[in-house]
Amino acid sequence: VVLTFNACKVKSQQSSTSATEKNIEQKVDSVLALMTLEEKVGQMVQYNGSWDVTGPATGTTNEKKLEQLKKGLVGSMLNVVSVQHTREAQRLVMENSRLKIPLIFGYDVIHGYKTMFPIPLGETASWDMILAEKTAAAAARETAASGIHWTFAPMMDVSRDARWGRIMEGAGEDPFLNAEIAVARIKGFQGDDLASNLTIAACAKHFAGYGFAEAGRDYNTVNIGIHELHNTILPPFKAAAEAGVATFMNSFNEIDGVPATSSSYLQRDILKDNWGWDGFIVSDWGSISEMIPHGIAENKKDAALLALKGGSDMDMEGGAYETSIEDLIAEGKVSEELIDDSVKRILRIKFQLGLFDDPYKYCDESFEKKELYSKQNQNLSLEAAKKSIVLLKNESDILPIKKSVKSIAVIGPLADDKDSPLGNWRAQAEPNSAVSVLEGIKNHVPESVEVKYAEGVKLSTGERSFLKPLTINHTDISGIAEAKELAKSSDLVILVVGEDAYQSGEGRSQAEIGFLGVQDELIKEIQMANKNVVMVLMNGRPMDLSWSSEHVSAILETWLLGSQHGNAVAEVLFGKYNPAGKLPVSFPRSVGQEPLYYNQKNTGRPSANGEVTYSHYTDLDRDALYPFGFGLSYTDFEYGDIQLSQSSFTKGEEITASVTVKNTGTVKGEEVVQLYIRDLFASITRPIKELKGFEKIELNPGESKTVSFKIDEELLSYFGRDKQWVTDAGKFHLFIGGDSVNLNQTEIEFK
Ligand code: BGC
Repeated sequence: VVLTFNACKVKSQQSSTSATEKNIEQKVDSVLALMTLEEKVGQMVQYNGSWDVTGPATGTTNEKKLEQLKKGLVGSMLNVVSVQHTREAQRLVMENSRLKIPLIFGYDVIHGYKTMFPIPLGETASWDMILAEKTAAAAARETAASGIHWTFAPMMDVSRDARWGRIMEGAGEDPFLNAEIAVARIKGFQGDDLASNLTIAACAKHFAGYGFAEAGRDYNTVNIGIHELHNTILPPFKAAAEAGVATFMNSFNEIDGVPATSSSYLQRDILKDNWGWDGFIVSDWGSISEMIPHGIAENKKDAALLALKGGSDMDMEGGAYETSIEDLIAEGKVSEELIDDSVKRILRIKFQLGLFDDPYKYCDESFEKKELYSKQNQNLSLEAAKKSIVLLKNESDILPIKKSVKSIAVIGPLADDKDSPLGNWRAQAEPNSAVSVLEGIKNHVPESVEVKYAEGVKLSTGERSFLKPLTINHTDISGIAEAKELAKSSDLVILVVGEDAYQSGEGRSQAEIGFLGVQDELIKEIQMANKNVVMVLMNGRPMDLSWSSEHVSAILETWLLGSQHGNAVAEVLFGKYNPAGKLPVSFPRSVGQEPLYYNQKNTGRPSANGEVTYSHYTDLDRDALYPFGFGLSYTDFEYGDIQLSQSSFTKGEEITASVTVKNTGTVKGEEVVQLYIRDLFASITRPIKELKGFEKIELNPGESKTVSFKIDEELLSYFGRDKQWVTDAGKFHLFIGGDSVNLNQTEIEFK
């Protein structure tokens, strides 16, 4: 099948190559001309450097790595942290190698470096792109101050399965929202100028399909068709390429039998050729060698050949490129031009970062000291944390906490946890450095109110670590009695339950998404002891809240909010901040509904209302308990009818759709106004709703604002049956509202 695509913005940007870019190209070519094949291959090798490079190397692997560094046969290292270590590794190269090509140091800075911001899924709930840019920029400053040039973020894998542990690292189930926030984060990390010593290179990952692992099991097989790939998975990556992201990372998974690492369709045809993107692709950790267990390569040499042909430029800690490329060329299996292309891509980014001008540009201890955990970053972390909180339930307006409440029981295994708020993928954060919910409440509670704490149950037993699965406590309920007594004698209970930081993240998929261990017992006992229960949820994935949603008075979704978690939660509980977050993922009624997402399609089965067709369970509703885009406020918003500038349009024209939103409550609040569309008849089946725009507004009590969205041909386009992006002539439904279910509707036509 010959695939054609629409021209993309990356290409048009390139046609006006600036003088600086031309200059860089010349420099890249002149360095390349000096390089031996062995040195070229070296640039395509990335080593893990998580040992003390300043000390004597221990073990043969590290000794060998040091030797290769000195010979200039390594292009990059990951996991080397602190100015002291990066300077030393760079020195080994600069003072010993023939061509003195600086290393680029990479690290997983996913939601902060030392100061932690909310986990990416949580921060997405803010729907605040300026905020996302600011937190990425702050993380970049701390990272750069520590000698590191490059983060392996943002992750933009669309994921619709709450069981998948890595759902915490992305922006949830929607392609449009993923794309918007990915671009904001890239802008934050990279700034306007990669050469600045306050910014770092970003990485669009994982290319592609990783979030669609079957049954939510990490690394598992992905089976999606070509239309799903283009319409759902690729849009955030295309947006990242257009935003000028410096690097891409491929993914561990296969798609329809082809491991992404070897997919020339993805990496060459789409990314490099059609999108015209000129950065470099790093493999995921060992993903080149993983093609051996995948069963498509017999040995590392085969694997290297597949990855090279597939367009992977750098081998992350896989040992396949460094041992095989020279042989593959000698045997005539790959051409040196292919290698040159990869090396040029890598050198280009090194030049853009300014590493050739000053290989030690980030190595400044005094800056490191000043930046890490700066007051400014702590303040930003608090702002981000507050904006990420989603109020899911608030019966009888139990929140914000009333003046009549004189005693508060803070209960639960996560209530005084100072570590879990840091989330997984926490870079260099000090363990236990977050403000716990209990601490936050104590910081903000009026003096006249008594606060008492009982843990109730433990969530886990034994060691908690990035490397090991958590040992869940399934038996010990001995603390429940004391917690129950406390609940009985208090006016209000704040019950802090959910997931430990190490329940989500890489390799942390779960078959169950309820409250693990003996938390259910605790929740039920506490609810029986006191009818005024506010559940504060901490978690890295959508959870099954079906029992709690019926029985507790209020539910506050707080994810894992980073360094200032407890203070942010307390500000919301006491009404100092009016929550405005909206879910970036659907919360199911049961794990059995997973994968669950709002932008599903009709089946061929007709239904009574003509909207959602017959596809159902006999034992449970099919819809979400809390849908995508949903979140309450301490105030109320009223939406007016959708006003259209015109009801039909043709090529080159656009329609403005406006809606007036009024704050009808008594306090100031923010609302995320959301635009969805539906293409009624298309060449392939299309979702019944797709997010296509949003705007966050702030309204004083009684105030109204009109929000307008522009609808043009491109906004209505999709990757269709002819393998092209097209816009169908015909009718479309437009929906505007405060979540993906409660929407005002109108119709437009594209002629
Ligand atoms: C993950 C990547 C990460 C890399 C380096 C891999 O296991 O899948 O997302 O960037 O490790 O730590």
